Amino acid sequence: TLFSELKLHQWVNENIKLSGYERPTPVQKYSIPALMDNRDLMSCAQTGSGKTAAFLVPLINHILQNGPKAVYREAPGRNGRKKQFPCALVLSPTRELSLQIYNECRKFGYRTPITSAILYGGRENYQQQISKLRLGCHILIATPGRLIDVMEQGYIGLTGCRYLVIDEADRMLDMGFEPQIRQIVELSSMPEKKYRVTAMFSATFPKEIQILAQDFLVPNYVFLA
Ligand code: AMP
Repeated sequence: TLFSELKLHQWVNENIKLSGYERPTPVQKYSIPALMDNRDLMSCAQTGSGKTAAFLVPLINHILQNGPKAVYREAPGRNGRKKQFPCALVLSPTRELSLQIYNECRKFGYRTPITSAILYGGRENYQQQISKLRLGCHILIATPGRLIDVMEQGYIGLTGCRYLVIDEADRMLDMGFEPQIRQIVELSSMPEKKYRVTAMFSATFPKEIQILAQDFLVPNYVFLA
């Protein structure tokens, strides 16, 4: 299989070429068509398998196919703050992984109208992250704690979030993020599972991840071992 056979938007294909990728890795070969088909996905993928592109490529493709303007809005929030409504959220356990995802996102979204932003913990860069966010964010990449914080400040709403990715889910649980993840997915303004596409990635598939998959994914989700 070649990327060119996956019927991706021309701009996505061009950016994949610029990245130097020719052939999809196995996880990409199965994840990309499933997500392009708006199926939910549980993928047991290790770091280094190419899992980042496996969810970013269909996500960016989806936004381009639907029109970047149509899927995104911003509105005045509380205190006159500009509130952003990303159409896609990628949850990641750490700052380092978030930065990696963000960089790949910029590569595949190069020379497209798609905007992305990143939120992760740490006192120094809070204001910087907020300023950047306010330039627009179709795709928000965030660690759970900081996202909740920024939502509570009124800068982010998830009502328009049609695409949810939970990356390295097992690591998130190991780090004790389950309550935060559940708060974001189940107790915020995030659309219910039947109104969004959800992809979970995890290196392992223990009982706790199976339960999370059951709770966050529609019953006929695609499972990739
Ligand atoms: P990941 O598993 O997403 O962290 O990706 C691991 C590494 O593989 C990254 O450096 C990617 O840039 C690279 N990579 C991902 N997909 C491909 C591909 N289809 N062909 C070549 N390199 C890739």
